[in-house]
Amino acid sequence: MNLVALAQLILFVLRNLNLKPRKHKPEEIALAIAAYVMGVQITKLNIPPSTLYYYTRKLGVKRRKDVRPRCPSCNSDRVIKNGSSRGKSKYKCKVCGRTFYGTASHRMSREQRERILREYTNRMSLRGISKVEGRPLTTVYSSVKRAALKAYVDLSILQAQLKAFRSKFAVLDESWTYVRVRRGPRRQNLWIWNALIDGVPFFVTGDRDYNTFRLLWLSLPKCEVHYTDDYPIYQVLYHHVVGKKYTHTVESYNSFCRSHLARLARDTKAVNRSRAMIDYSLALLNVMYPQVFTDEKTPLNLAYLSGVQYIRDHLI
Ligand SMILES: [Zn+2]
Repeated sequence: MNLVALAQLILFVLRNLNLKPRKHKPEEIALAIAAYVMGVQITKLNIPPSTLYYYTRKLGVKRRKDVRPRCPSCNSDRVIKNGSSRGKSKYKCKVCGRTFYGTASHRMSREQRERILREYTNRMSLRGISKVEGRPLTTVYSSVKRAALKAYVDLSILQAQLKAFRSKFAVLDESWTYVRVRRGPRRQNLWIWNALIDGVPFFVTGDRDYNTFRLLWLSLPKCEVHYTDDYPIYQVLYHHVVGKKYTHTVESYNSFCRSHLARLARDTKAVNRSRAMIDYSLALLNVMYPQVFTDEKTPLNLAYLSGVQYIRDHLI
């Protein structure tokens, strides 16, 4: 019921009760009572509280007590109103001091979080997802980052377990991207070192020097043959074969990453702000679409596939 309709109803009741206010117009009193009942503030009417009180007593109306939400942090009910923002009431907890909105939280449904991850791993930028899903950029960002970090940690544990396996062949390659930091130098070069061990992707990000390569090398299971391009750092590998002929699988993995992540695609506005987010995103991509980049089935890549499928099923 809106304010005017309620005021007319109250006016009707006032007339039927034969109440005839002397100083004020009955219409104004009816409006003031209606406003009081609905909890709306009207200052223009100039009706003193005592008069209002008199008529509300006569009519026997009471303001509905507003239900205050409990504090989301400590579940206390000692909560006070604390102004409003964007049309929503804000509340403050007197126990822990937390300020919060009374309405439902921004928590996204499982379906929406799943869809956001799919969009993110299908070349949409975070900004684009934010617009399509109608969620704030920060909400989308933290949702993606949370899942990607989980994928990264779980994948690292899985890869450490895979070190116990012996594998047939390894293909190594490095690819370039860059990070644009908000403060500091405009661009920082970043190299993503990829290795496919029996088709299982391993990756490390960093400089193009030996230290970064060593990190990758140490994380790999033992291999019978290593295929690489002619970049000199690879000379330290045992059973080493150089040639572009063998590195096409890792290049197809590379283009798989570029075509699925906006932050790695060329000629897009999406840029990387942090190296960590590249690591997490690559892990997320590997987890979202579990696959090995070879047709051959080996104990290593079968173990990887079942492990990564488990991570995928428990991601959200
Ligand atoms: Zn509290």
